[in-house]
Amino acid sequence: MPDRLGAPLEAPIVGTLALIGVGLIGSSIAHVARRQNLAARIVATAQSEATRKRVKELGLADEVAPSPGEAVRDADLIILCAPVGANTGIAAEIGPHLQQGAIVSDVGSVKGAVIAAVAPHLPPGMHFVPAHPVAGTEQSGPDAGFATLFLHRWCILTPPEGTEAAAIDKVRAFWTGAGSNVEVMTASHHDLVLAITSHVPHLIAYNIVGTAADLEEVTQAEVIKFSAGGFRDFTRIAASDPTMWRDVFLHNRDAALEMLGRFNEDLAALQRMIRWGDGEGLFNLFTRTRAIRRSIIAEGQETAAPDFGRHAEDELD
Ligand code: NAP
Repeated sequence: MPDRLGAPLEAPIVGTLALIGVGLIGSSIAHVARRQNLAARIVATAQSEATRKRVKELGLADEVAPSPGEAVRDADLIILCAPVGANTGIAAEIGPHLQQGAIVSDVGSVKGAVIAAVAPHLPPGMHFVPAHPVAGTEQSGPDAGFATLFLHRWCILTPPEGTEAAAIDKVRAFWTGAGSNVEVMTASHHDLVLAITSHVPHLIAYNIVGTAADLEEVTQAEVIKFSAGGFRDFTRIAASDPTMWRDVFLHNRDAALEMLGRFNEDLAALQRMIRWGDGEGLFNLFTRTRAIRRSIIAEGQETAAPDFGRHAEDELD
């Protein structure tokens, strides 16, 4: 699979694109929209003056607006790129300033709660096509973005029932232009799938790193020194943005609790296997899980290089 974006589009997909929030995701959208000619003009805004100033310095937008209301005035496509918990306030603020026929989308990692927060604030005649690019890093802020973040990654659209097909097609074309594969599903299905593939893994990472940090018999220095034994890979996930992840768990509570319940049951079963010396049970599970990693590599969602492609001669488990 080529690891580069193709040639830019001859004609942009949208006239004015407004980005509300310019962190990792918003700045990556700005980079790819410029590089691939996805939008004729980009207007951006962020919460703080410091971030708005940085967005100007980085040249991420043609115009930096002082507020979400100002940013959306002439926008054809508005993408909400702030943490999920900020969406109610942003939607209430932009609602009265949207131009007729505008398409509002977002990038939130949770979809049901975003629809409940945003949809009531959109006046009739607007289109709402919620989206979740399943791509990210543990970095945040306007300096963290890059144009290939979404390349070959999935972007899931969860349009509420009755959304006009033309609006869905436009958002699909935008993400395809950014290099993503696009899939459409219901918000509730999205939230369940992402609870197990993304949300619970983050919680496990936060938990294991927190547990290690609290251990009294093992020093912090030892935790860091011997981290290549597996711990290090959890620390990357556990370094993810605290605001974003707090909001994910507060807004995908039911699905996260459902998957955590299952996880706890399976963990208890593993505990039993260890206690009763059930080597065959352990071996069978570890064999099944290895096959899942191979499928992810075969699908092009991960590198086949050992140790995630790090040069690891001196980092042995
Ligand atoms: P981020 O790097 O922390 O950036 C968040 C941006 O939102 C900042 O520019 C922030 O401005 C702005 N913001 C916050 N509240 C705002 C408000 N009330 N009005 C206007 N702007 C506001 O976050 P991110 O990682 O890009 O994540 C953004 C969204 O993408 C989240 O909804 C998350 O669920 C989703 N997402 C993230 C990932 C990931 O891996 N990070 C992956 C997929 C989807 P200031 O800097 O001024 O505070």
